[in-house]
Amino acid sequence: YTAMSRVLALTNQKGGVGKTTTVINVAASLARAGRKVLLIDLDSQANATAGIGFVPYSADSGIYEVLIGRVSLESVIRSTESGMDAVIASRNLVGAQVELLNFDQREYRLKNAIRAVRDTYNYILMDCPPSLNIVTLNALVAADGVIVPTQCEYFALQGLVELLDTIETVRQSLNPQLKLDGILRTMHDRRNKLNREVSAQLSSHFQDLVYRTIIPRNIRLAEAPSHGKTALDYDNKCLGTMAYIAFTGELLSKEERL
Ligand code: ATP
Ligand code: MG
Repeated sequence: YTAMSRVLALTNQKGGVGKTTTVINVAASLARAGRKVLLIDLDSQANATAGIGFVPYSADSGIYEVLIGRVSLESVIRSTESGMDAVIASRNLVGAQVELLNFDQREYRLKNAIRAVRDTYNYILMDCPPSLNIVTLNALVAADGVIVPTQCEYFALQGLVELLDTIETVRQSLNPQLKLDGILRTMHDRRNKLNREVSAQLSSHFQDLVYRTIIPRNIRLAEAPSHGKTALDYDNKCLGTMAYIAFTGELLSKEERL
Protein backbone atom coordinates (compact mmCIF):
# COMPACT_ATOMS: atom_id res chain seq x y z
CA TYR A 1 0.00 0.00 0.00
CA THR A 2 1.29 3.50 -0.83
CA ALA A 3 -0.52 6.65 -1.98
CA MET A 4 -1.71 9.22 0.47
CA SER A 5 -0.43 10.52 3.76
CA ARG A 6 -2.63 11.84 6.55
CA VAL A 7 -1.68 13.69 9.71
CA LEU A 8 -4.18 13.17 12.53
CA ALA A 9 -4.29 14.71 16.02
CA LEU A 10 -5.95 12.87 18.90
CA THR A 11 -7.20 15.57 21.17
CA ASN A 12 -9.64 16.48 23.91
CA GLN A 13 -8.95 19.11 26.56
CA LYS A 14 -10.64 16.80 29.04
CA GLY A 15 -8.27 14.40 30.75
CA GLY A 16 -8.53 10.63 30.92
CA VAL A 17 -10.93 10.14 28.02
CA GLY A 18 -8.87 7.58 26.12
CA LYS A 19 -6.69 9.70 23.83
CA THR A 20 -3.51 7.77 24.54
CA THR A 21 -5.14 4.33 24.53
CA THR A 22 -6.69 5.19 21.17
CA VAL A 23 -3.54 6.57 19.57
CA ILE A 24 -1.48 3.52 20.57
CA ASN A 25 -3.96 0.93 19.40
CA VAL A 26 -5.02 2.69 16.22
CA ALA A 27 -1.33 3.12 15.33
CA ALA A 28 -0.74 -0.60 15.93
CA SER A 29 -3.86 -1.59 13.96
CA LEU A 30 -2.89 0.63 11.03
CA ALA A 31 0.60 -0.88 11.03
CA ARG A 32 -0.93 -4.36 11.05
CA ALA A 33 -3.07 -3.32 8.08
CA GLY A 34 0.13 -2.59 6.18
CA ARG A 35 0.22 1.17 6.56
CA LYS A 36 3.41 3.06 7.36
CA VAL A 37 2.66 4.78 10.66
CA LEU A 38 4.44 7.34 12.83
CA LEU A 39 3.19 7.97 16.37
CA ILE A 40 4.28 11.24 17.98
CA ASP A 41 3.93 11.65 21.75
CA LEU A 42 3.26 15.33 22.47
CA ASP A 43 2.27 14.86 26.12
CA SER A 44 4.81 15.52 28.87
CA GLN A 45 3.15 12.72 30.88
CA ALA A 46 4.76 10.39 28.29
CA ASN A 47 1.97 7.80 28.58
CA ALA A 48 2.09 6.84 24.91
CA THR A 49 5.88 6.57 25.11
CA ALA A 50 5.61 4.12 28.03
CA GLY A 51 2.62 2.33 26.51
CA ILE A 52 4.63 1.23 23.47
CA GLY A 53 7.53 0.00 25.54
CA PHE A 54 9.97 2.89 25.85
CA VAL A 55 11.31 4.06 29.19
CA PRO A 56 10.03 7.64 29.53
CA TYR A 57 12.71 10.36 29.51
CA SER A 58 15.46 7.81 28.84
CA ALA A 59 16.65 9.36 25.58
CA ASP A 60 18.61 12.56 25.11
CA SER A 61 16.24 13.83 22.48
CA GLY A 62 12.52 13.59 21.84
CA ILE A 63 9.78 15.78 20.52
CA TYR A 64 10.77 18.79 22.65
CA GLU A 65 14.19 19.03 21.02
CA VAL A 66 12.43 18.89 17.65
CA LEU A 67 10.02 21.68 18.61
CA ILE A 68 12.80 24.01 19.68
CA GLY A 69 14.76 23.18 16.53
CA ARG A 70 17.74 21.49 18.18
CA VAL A 71 17.37 18.26 16.20
CA SER A 72 15.43 17.14 13.13
CA LEU A 73 12.31 15.02 13.48
CA GLU A 74 13.95 12.36 11.33
CA SER A 75 16.84 12.00 13.78
CA VAL A 76 14.58 11.06 16.72
CA ILE A 77 12.33 8.54 14.95
CA ARG A 78 12.57 5.07 16.47
CA SER A 79 11.12 1.79 15.30
CA THR A 80 8.95 -0.35 17.57
CA GLU A 81 8.16 -4.05 17.77
CA SER A 82 4.51 -3.30 17.01
CA GLY A 83 5.32 -2.19 13.47
CA MET A 84 4.94 1.55 13.78
CA ASP A 85 7.63 4.17 14.17
CA ALA A 86 7.53 6.59 17.09
CA VAL A 87 8.84 9.87 18.40
CA ILE A 88 8.86 9.81 22.17
CA ALA A 89 8.07 12.60 24.60
CA SER A 90 10.95 14.34 26.30
CA ARG A 91 11.43 15.47 29.84
CA ASN A 92 11.59 19.13 28.88
CA LEU A 93 8.24 19.16 27.17
CA VAL A 94 6.61 21.07 30.04
CA GLY A 95 9.17 23.82 29.57
CA ALA A 96 8.28 24.05 25.89
CA GLN A 97 5.15 25.98 26.85
CA VAL A 98 7.21 28.93 28.00
CA GLU A 99 10.15 28.55 25.67
CA LEU A 100 8.15 28.38 22.45
CA LEU A 101 6.52 31.70 23.25
CA ASN A 102 9.73 33.44 22.19
CA PHE A 103 10.05 31.66 18.84
CA ASP A 104 9.13 32.85 15.38
CA GLN A 105 6.27 30.92 13.86
CA ARG A 106 5.75 29.23 17.19
CA GLU A 107 2.49 27.55 16.11
CA TYR A 108 4.09 26.10 12.94
CA ARG A 109 7.14 24.36 14.41
CA LEU A 110 5.69 20.86 14.35
CA LYS A 111 4.14 21.31 10.91
CA ASN A 112 7.49 22.43 9.54
CA ALA A 113 9.30 19.54 11.23
CA ILE A 114 6.84 16.96 9.86
CA ARG A 115 7.16 18.23 6.30
CA ALA A 116 10.49 16.43 5.80
CA VAL A 117 9.13 12.99 6.77
CA ARG A 118 5.51 13.29 5.71
CA ASP A 119 5.89 11.38 2.45
CA THR A 120 7.51 8.45 4.28
CA TYR A 121 4.26 7.68 6.14
CA ASN A 122 0.65 6.90 5.34
CA TYR A 123 -0.45 8.04 8.79
CA ILE A 124 1.14 10.33 11.33
CA LEU A 125 -0.79 10.20 14.63
CA MET A 126 -0.20 12.73 17.40
CA ASP A 127 -1.13 12.15 21.05
CA CYS A 128 -1.97 15.50 22.68
CA PRO A 129 -1.93 16.54 26.33
CA PRO A 130 -5.27 17.23 28.07
CA SER A 131 -5.10 20.98 27.60
CA LEU A 132 -5.08 23.53 24.83
CA ASN A 133 -1.50 24.73 25.18
CA ILE A 134 1.02 25.80 22.56
CA VAL A 135 2.07 22.18 21.96
CA THR A 136 -1.54 21.12 21.29
CA LEU A 137 -1.88 24.16 19.03
CA ASN A 138 1.18 22.97 17.09
CA ALA A 139 -0.58 19.62 16.62
CA LEU A 140 -3.78 21.29 15.37
CA VAL A 141 -1.76 23.39 12.93
CA ALA A 142 0.17 20.34 11.66
CA ALA A 143 -2.94 18.16 11.35
CA ASP A 144 -5.25 17.45 8.44
CA GLY A 145 -7.83 15.90 10.74
CA VAL A 146 -8.77 15.64 14.40
CA ILE A 147 -10.03 12.53 16.16
CA VAL A 148 -11.80 13.35 19.42
CA PRO A 149 -12.15 10.51 21.93
CA THR A 150 -14.83 11.08 24.54
CA GLN A 151 -16.48 9.23 27.39
CA CYS A 152 -20.26 9.23 27.40
CA GLU A 153 -20.53 11.06 30.68
CA TYR A 154 -22.46 14.06 31.90
CA PHE A 155 -20.99 17.32 30.47
CA ALA A 156 -19.48 15.46 27.48
CA LEU A 157 -21.63 17.38 25.01
CA GLN A 158 -20.72 20.76 26.49
CA GLY A 159 -17.00 19.97 26.41
CA LEU A 160 -17.26 18.82 22.79
CA VAL A 161 -19.06 21.97 21.70
CA GLU A 162 -16.19 24.01 23.17
CA LEU A 163 -13.59 21.82 21.49
CA LEU A 164 -15.32 22.09 18.13
CA ASP A 165 -15.31 25.88 18.51
CA THR A 166 -11.57 25.74 19.10
CA ILE A 167 -11.05 23.58 16.02
CA GLU A 168 -13.11 26.05 13.99
CA THR A 169 -11.03 28.98 15.29
CA VAL A 170 -7.80 27.21 14.32
CA ARG A 171 -9.28 26.40 10.91
CA GLN A 172 -10.12 30.05 10.29
CA SER A 173 -6.79 31.40 11.48
CA LEU A 174 -3.82 29.05 11.37
CA ASN A 175 -4.82 25.94 9.40
CA PRO A 176 -7.58 26.17 6.75
CA GLN A 177 -7.18 22.45 5.95
CA LEU A 178 -8.10 21.28 9.43
CA LYS A 179 -11.22 19.20 9.76
CA LEU A 180 -12.89 17.25 12.50
CA ASP A 181 -12.52 13.66 11.37
CA GLY A 182 -14.83 12.33 14.04
CA ILE A 183 -15.85 11.76 17.64
CA LEU A 184 -15.02 8.37 19.15
CA ARG A 185 -17.03 7.04 22.10
CA THR A 186 -14.67 5.32 24.54
CA MET A 187 -14.84 3.29 27.78
CA HIS A 188 -18.44 2.51 27.06
CA ASP A 189 -20.46 0.27 29.38
CA ARG A 190 -23.75 -0.65 27.77
CA ARG A 191 -25.24 -1.64 31.14
CA ASN A 192 -24.75 1.95 32.27
CA LYS A 193 -27.87 4.02 31.60
CA LEU A 194 -26.04 7.37 31.51
CA ASN A 195 -23.51 5.97 29.00
CA ARG A 196 -26.35 4.82 26.76
CA GLU A 197 -28.22 8.12 27.02
CA VAL A 198 -25.20 10.34 26.35
CA SER A 199 -24.12 8.07 23.50
CA ALA A 200 -27.53 8.53 21.85
CA GLN A 201 -27.41 12.27 22.54
CA LEU A 202 -24.00 12.58 20.84
CA SER A 203 -25.26 10.67 17.80
CA SER A 204 -28.32 12.85 17.41
CA HIS A 205 -26.40 16.09 17.97
CA PHE A 206 -23.27 15.41 15.90
CA GLN A 207 -24.75 12.85 13.47
CA ASP A 208 -22.17 11.58 10.95
CA LEU A 209 -19.35 13.15 12.91
CA VAL A 210 -19.73 10.36 15.48
CA TYR A 211 -17.95 7.16 14.44
CA ARG A 212 -20.19 4.10 14.41
CA THR A 213 -17.67 1.96 16.30
CA ILE A 214 -17.88 2.27 20.09
CA ILE A 215 -14.91 1.30 22.29
CA PRO A 216 -16.12 -0.74 25.28
CA ARG A 217 -14.74 -0.47 28.78
CA ASN A 218 -12.31 -3.40 28.82
CA ILE A 219 -9.77 -4.18 31.53
CA ARG A 220 -7.25 -5.61 29.05
CA LEU A 221 -6.93 -2.18 27.41
CA ALA A 222 -6.02 -0.70 30.79
CA GLU A 223 -3.56 -3.49 31.65
CA ALA A 224 -1.60 -3.48 28.38
CA PRO A 225 0.39 -0.23 28.97
CA SER A 226 1.77 -1.48 32.28
CA HIS A 227 3.46 -4.22 30.25
CA GLY A 228 4.73 -1.70 27.72
CA LYS A 229 2.59 -3.35 25.08
CA THR A 230 -0.16 -2.31 22.72
CA ALA A 231 -3.45 -4.10 23.38
CA LEU A 232 -2.95 -5.94 20.07
CA ASP A 233 0.31 -7.42 21.35
CA TYR A 234 -0.96 -7.94 24.90
CA ASP A 235 -4.24 -9.69 24.10
CA ASN A 236 -5.05 -10.07 20.45
CA LYS A 237 -8.53 -11.47 21.07
CA CYS A 238 -10.02 -9.30 23.82
CA LEU A 239 -13.05 -7.11 23.15
CA GLY A 240 -10.98 -3.94 23.48
CA THR A 241 -8.49 -5.02 20.81
CA MET A 242 -11.30 -6.13 18.51
CA ALA A 243 -13.03 -2.77 18.95
CA TYR A 244 -9.86 -0.85 18.06
CA ILE A 245 -9.31 -3.04 14.99
CA ALA A 246 -12.93 -2.41 13.95
CA PHE A 247 -12.53 1.31 14.55
CA THR A 248 -9.38 1.35 12.44
CA GLY A 249 -11.34 -0.32 9.64
CA GLU A 250 -13.96 2.42 9.89
CA LEU A 251 -11.24 5.07 9.88
CA LEU A 252 -9.59 3.54 6.81
CA SER A 253 -12.85 3.46 4.89
CA LYS A 254 -13.50 7.08 5.81
CA GLU A 255 -9.96 8.28 5.02
CA GLU A 256 -9.28 6.16 1.97
CA ARG A 257 -12.82 5.52 0.70
CA LEU A 258 -12.07 1.82 0.43
P1 ATP B 1 -4.80 12.09 29.61
O1 ATP B 1 -5.78 13.18 29.36
O2 ATP B 1 -4.31 12.03 31.03
O3 ATP B 1 -3.70 12.06 28.61
P2 ATP B 1 -6.10 10.10 28.02
O4 ATP B 1 -7.24 10.88 27.44
O5 ATP B 1 -4.91 9.90 27.17
O6 ATP B 1 -5.64 10.72 29.42
P3 ATP B 1 -5.99 7.30 28.58
O7 ATP B 1 -4.70 7.44 29.28
O8 ATP B 1 -6.00 6.62 27.26
O9 ATP B 1 -6.72 8.70 28.47
O10 ATP B 1 -7.05 6.53 29.50
C1 ATP B 1 -7.26 6.91 30.85
C2 ATP B 1 -7.25 5.66 31.72
O11 ATP B 1 -8.33 4.81 31.35
C3 ATP B 1 -5.99 4.83 31.56
O12 ATP B 1 -5.68 4.23 32.79
C4 ATP B 1 -6.38 3.78 30.54
O13 ATP B 1 -5.63 2.59 30.67
C5 ATP B 1 -7.84 3.56 30.88
N1 ATP B 1 -8.64 3.21 29.70
C6 ATP B 1 -8.66 3.84 28.50
N2 ATP B 1 -9.56 3.28 27.67
C7 ATP B 1 -10.11 2.25 28.35
C8 ATP B 1 -11.13 1.28 28.03
N3 ATP B 1 -11.75 1.28 26.85
N4 ATP B 1 -11.46 0.39 28.98
C9 ATP B 1 -10.85 0.41 30.20
N5 ATP B 1 -9.91 1.27 30.55
C10 ATP B 1 -9.54 2.20 29.65
MG1 MG C 1 -3.00 10.69 27.37
